Amino acid sequence: MRVHSVILCLLGLLLALPPAAWAEPEPAQAQTNAVAAGEEALDFHCLRQAYPALERLEQDAAGRQWLLLADGRRVLYRDAQPGAADVAASMAAPYPLEPERPPTPPGVAPGRLRPYDLFTALYGGDRVAVNAGLVTVPWPGRQVRLSPAAAQALERVFHRLAPLLEERPDLRPYLDSEGGFAWRRIAGEDRLSAHAFGIAIDLNARRAPYWRWSRQRPHPRQRDYPPEIVDAFEAEGFIWGGKWHEYDLMHFEYRPEIICKARLRAKALPVF
Ligand SMILES: [Zn+2]
Repeated sequence: MRVHSVILCLLGLLLALPPAAWAEPEPAQAQTNAVAAGEEALDFHCLRQAYPALERLEQDAAGRQWLLLADGRRVLYRDAQPGAADVAASMAAPYPLEPERPPTPPGVAPGRLRPYDLFTALYGGDRVAVNAGLVTVPWPGRQVRLSPAAAQALERVFHRLAPLLEERPDLRPYLDSEGGFAWRRIAGEDRLSAHAFGIAIDLNARRAPYWRWSRQRPHPRQRDYPPEIVDAFEAEGFIWGGKWHEYDLMHFEYRPEIICKARLRAKALPVF
């Protein structure tokens, strides 16, 4: 049986566990191990679904876990030392899918901690490499250039929204694009933006504030930004920067592994 199948079986078992199974007292270490194994199964299942180039998960003699790509490259999934900026850390913060949108607590920004090694393996490690893989997608306002999987997902977002725009022309201005790919760093930081990997689109900034340009925290638009737009993006694997404490309402980022995990968590585990 392949490792992937074993992990899927473990995932199925986890999802089938009644809530009481999680509440039974266990030695602290056993409980920690069980939770870690559950997280790992969820993560790998969702990573495989999101990025078919990932084949399996392996542990080395030092206790580090690696994601292996079909072409033989590997990306660190979980370092042996806690606190590393690895793939596991990038998927740890639960992304909320509930429609109520309660205020996001300080320090919480699900999906904003990015797995740069994975992005580099999937999309390229410099401007030339990323640029070479981009495709152009039609979008209201202007065309955008994105990595192929993100571009296809964005087209599906538009197909979801198109019928709604007939009934709700008031939603149309929200969709005006500010751009997709841009080789740039996050404002005020050294780290690359998701736009540098061609996996993010910004929509009309006049309708969607950014925390650095506003004094309001939380911002009322975090609650009243049209749910139809957020839902259409999330349904196709994009996370929304409006759910971060340091919000970026114009920003939608293709992170299907985060959305997959959020959906599975909503079925089986409490969120927050
Ligand atoms: Zn953005």
